[in-house]
Amino acid sequence: MSTPLMSTVALVTGASSGIGQATARRLAAQGATVVLVARRQDRIDVLAKEIAEEGGRAVALAADLTEAEAATRIVATAVGRLGRLDTLVNAAGMMLTGDSLRAPLDEWQRMVDINVNGLLYVTKAALPHLVDAAAASPRQVADVVNISSIAGRFVIPNAAVYNATKFGVTAATEAWRQEFSRRNVRFAVVEPGLVETELQSHQQEAVREGMAARFADVEQLHADDIAEAVAYVVTGPRRRAVAEIVIRPTDQV
Ligand code: NDP
Repeated sequence: MSTPLMSTVALVTGASSGIGQATARRLAAQGATVVLVARRQDRIDVLAKEIAEEGGRAVALAADLTEAEAATRIVATAVGRLGRLDTLVNAAGMMLTGDSLRAPLDEWQRMVDINVNGLLYVTKAALPHLVDAAAASPRQVADVVNISSIAGRFVIPNAAVYNATKFGVTAATEAWRQEFSRRNVRFAVVEPGLVETELQSHQQEAVREGMAARFADVEQLHADDIAEAVAYVVTGPRRRAVAEIVIRPTDQV
């Protein structure tokens, strides 16, 4: 059976959990060979096995993407083993919010390290391969989808640094879109509202409890709702470039 991403390779960061994991499954189901990247080797090994059992193809490569060398190495390893790279989904990220007077500086640094620097390292390493894939493949197109956030489009109190990282992702994605559109590399941001994943679990307890109370009556999105949007972006015909998708839970203001 022919599938939209047949014969393509997709690298998905944050594949051990939540949005990245759901996206990897979706892209594998569309025929892509998926490179699964996160720090937790055991999680991505299990996912690779599950994708294989469902008839797909996946390779698990563990890396801490806050290290430029590690990010560069996994892209080189993926292309060395699979011969190409057509799709990059940057989903790895952290959200650590709360009162700025009390927030440890370390939390701010960790968000900048992964949400901004990690994404830049992987994208920089992937770019030449994406340009090659767009020029040489039968589809004549390659894709980068960056998982930003509604916090990358609208500011909220107690989230200054998360806002800064996600506005940075949104801005860089649009600048790259303009830079690479004539080379058929599409860049898109997906900006979710509240999604039920492990993201909240890294927050300090008081912050977590505050958010749980604030959003108690909101039916949260599922990771697969976001994966479906990513799949819509990357499976479209060459002529269709989706630049931005905002997705909120219906009852989140
Ligand atoms: P999860 O916590 O479930 O997943 C985060 C992923 O990032 C994990 O796979 C984790 O893997 C990976 N990761 C974190 N740090 C690193 C690192 N240093 N190196 C490599 N991988 C890393 O959260 P979500 O799935 O919800 O988040 C995915 C993205 O979506 C994030 O960018 C988040 O900001 C964004 N988002 C999420 C929303 C939500 O409500 N959940 C809303 C809006 C945006 P591991 O720990 O194994 O390294």
